[in-house]
Amino acid sequence: TSVTWLGLAINAVLATGKMLTGWLCYSQAIFADGLHSLSDCVTDVAVLAGIRIADRPADEQHPYGHRRAITLVTAVLGLGLLAAACLIGYRAMRTMAVRTPVPIRVALPLALAIASVLIKELLYRLTARVGRRTGDTSVMANAWHHRTDAFSSIAAAAGLTAVAVGGEKWHFMDHATAIVLASFLILVGVRILRLAAEEIMDRAPDQTMLDEIARAVAATDGVLSFHAIRARSVGDKVEMDVHVQVDPESTVRTGHAIASDVRNAVQQCCPDVVTVIVHIEPTEAD
Ligand SMILES: [Zn+2]
Ligand SMILES: [Zn+2]
Repeated sequence: TSVTWLGLAINAVLATGKMLTGWLCYSQAIFADGLHSLSDCVTDVAVLAGIRIADRPADEQHPYGHRRAITLVTAVLGLGLLAAACLIGYRAMRTMAVRTPVPIRVALPLALAIASVLIKELLYRLTARVGRRTGDTSVMANAWHHRTDAFSSIAAAAGLTAVAVGGEKWHFMDHATAIVLASFLILVGVRILRLAAEEIMDRAPDQTMLDEIARAVAATDGVLSFHAIRARSVGDKVEMDVHVQVDPESTVRTGHAIASDVRNAVQQCCPDVVTVIVHIEPTEAD
């Protein structure tokens, strides 16, 4: 939606402005805050690109489709963020350790941090209103992300205020804030990497979805019982298979129709399930 694009554009402007200012004015805090904005918009763009690749139909070389492209993108993003955050944190710690005075010009970074807090809060309200009106949970999640972004900028603003008020002796607050922000980004990076690792390990979807799938299978006409049901995340989608027991005397045609009904029922309740493989067997088998 257009509010998503607005958020992306504003993040891009904020990222450029903060990182440039951080570099020119020697403020590590605003630079770290800028890295956060940068990672936000890189993530948005990369996910869009990843979904485009993932949606490509299966071909000869990739007979199961390209869904894991998203997992790959996620892993690369996590690694990139982790590396950048570690570098910023390390640099801030080194600056603090060697105690060489850094000629921080605090006015512009501080103004930018405060402006960023206000812009992000505004963006939160705008996005949340659209999210509530459309009932779109991903827009709502985006809104909350904008609000958490505001906290990153609040931290930067607080650190820079200490520098502005306290002068030379309080310069360490700029570096300390950078370390705090970098630590947060390291946590985010680790979480992203863990997510990617879980997907590579064929992690099951959450329990609510599993319950819904099981209910849909059980409720299908002709299904006497079922077992060996399993599902796994593949990129942003889900694949599953299940053994379904039917009347032993039913024809192949009937069995096949039941299998199709099971697939339709599952995809009706959970559209994210892209593949449903149904193994038909007579009631006494296992
Ligand atoms: Zn963010
Ligand atoms: Zn079986």
